[in-house]
Amino acid sequence: MFETIFVEKHLASTKRARSILNKFPKANVTVIESVDDVFGKVKKPYLQKRETLNLFLGEKKGTLVKAAPDAYGLSGEPHYYFIHAYNCIYECNYCYLQGYFHSPDIVIFLNHEEICQEIERVALLEQEKGNTPWFHAGEFSDSLALSHITGELSLYHDLFSRIPYAKLELRTKSANIKPLKDLPPRENIITTFSLSPADKIKKNDLKTPSLKARLRAIKELAKLDHPIGIHFDPVVYDDGFEEKYRELIAEMLEVLPHEKLEYISVGVVRFTKNVFEQVKKNYPKSELLSTELIKSFDGKVRYNRPMRLWILSTIKELLLKASIAKEKIYLCMEDED
Ligand code: SF4
Repeated sequence: MFETIFVEKHLASTKRARSILNKFPKANVTVIESVDDVFGKVKKPYLQKRETLNLFLGEKKGTLVKAAPDAYGLSGEPHYYFIHAYNCIYECNYCYLQGYFHSPDIVIFLNHEEICQEIERVALLEQEKGNTPWFHAGEFSDSLALSHITGELSLYHDLFSRIPYAKLELRTKSANIKPLKDLPPRENIITTFSLSPADKIKKNDLKTPSLKARLRAIKELAKLDHPIGIHFDPVVYDDGFEEKYRELIAEMLEVLPHEKLEYISVGVVRFTKNVFEQVKKNYPKSELLSTELIKSFDGKVRYNRPMRLWILSTIKELLLKASIAKEKIYLCMEDED
């Protein structure tokens, strides 16, 4: 999977680094002073991840927990994300990571104790203000895709078991639930799956597990009482979208009973200007480009506003018709006020 693994010198002999290195016995290993000295220093085209991918193991420096942008999660509560990795093994053609870093190589940070300490500090401050803070894993990566290799889940699980007033969201497109299944469910640790109709996953979520595999994972976790959330995000329009989402909702409810669904968010595909340029370059024939997109109020590229509202309200209507409580439905309306 990885051609070369770069590991920071002061971490190279730690148990955590050794355990990851041992999983890739064929990879070349290069010891470096700091990830920042090498990662992204030579620009590597995004799609080169198809041929060669390197892995970096290092320590996250600087801000470990960041306030999340507006419209990030359920409204009314403070949202934060923490960074324990950069980049992703999957290749969604709308991915915001295109062009974000100068390289698609994967970086895994190993100083989880420090990240946990910072989460706890921020959580306490928010609790004192009477808030329920949310922490999202994987702003720059998929939360579960590599969790069997990185092995950090149990640490975050311990932390959030100790601070039940704070919530952890593990957001994923993977079906890699084995490490999670080994841990007891917690009300405040919510695994959220991004779902799209099966044909959209095939066309746009390249190299990710199929809808079937994701639904199977949801079923298994729900049976074990792990709280589950769903993201219908990004919704990519086509003429049959209403029927496709009707079918998707029915398939979802077959594996996830209403009472086990924590919440469902719906968001329409959108890009920053830079990412949009990358999409045009990397996926010129993609269906993402086949519907007219406009630059909207915040500089992001989206469908026009009436179309966005129509798509969102159509899907909301379908969810309500499927008896999903309206309090559980969250529309990502970045321009709503
Ligand atoms: S799963 Fe998320 S992070 Fe990974 S390629 Fe897809 S959109 Fe990007």
